[in-house]
Amino acid sequence: MVEALTSPVQKLLLATRNPSKARELAQLLGELPFKLISLEEAGISETVEETGSTFEENAVIKAKAYVSLSGLLTLADDSGLEVDALGGRPGVLSARYGSPELSDEERLDLLLQELKDVPWEKRTARFRCVIALAWPSGEVRTVEGIVEGVIQYKPEGFNGFGYDPIFHLPDRCCTTAQLPTTEKNLISHRGQAARAAEAILKEDATGL
Ligand code: IMP
Repeated sequence: MVEALTSPVQKLLLATRNPSKARELAQLLGELPFKLISLEEAGISETVEETGSTFEENAVIKAKAYVSLSGLLTLADDSGLEVDALGGRPGVLSARYGSPELSDEERLDLLLQELKDVPWEKRTARFRCVIALAWPSGEVRTVEGIVEGVIQYKPEGFNGFGYDPIFHLPDRCCTTAQLPTTEKNLISHRGQAARAAEAILKEDATGL
């Protein structure tokens, strides 16, 4: 008992440099008995190239690279938008679709332009998120979350980030950018993956 009270809190490295993702993940994982550490706090300035062709490959590449740089239990996510009418694009290229120099707004315009002649019923899409957990022992586990939607004709809403203003949720009759972060987290791809990761981390913390 005394040991449990005095044992140091385990650290969990959140391996992302995207401040919007970091904010959502910190909110989602805030209840865990781990101290969340950012890459900056861990003193890591290296960037890891996402050379995989799937979200899972990229999440694992990042988690493995940062666990070996930090020596800390590491959580990395890779996520993006898959549009059916575009054969799954932008997919793993979501963050740099069109060109890495484009702003989020320009990227939405590009996607809307590509879909301009596509009717509502064919504008189906999903956000997908894979979270990889990597332990200093070499163990790696992955979990996935998906949320289905439809690409709107025009952006709406100012919350969230990236493609949120054009991602329409049929059940909610609004975009993910029109939901407060707490509500988006309840249904989002990242929320689902984070809850699955949380269950694994809780087992790890309690030694189950
Ligand atoms: P990553 O940093 O390589 O995982 O890039 C993810 C990219 O996918 C982001 O930069 C966004 O463009 C897009 N994306 C992922 N999740 C979301 C989301 O929750 N809302 C809007 N766009 C997202």
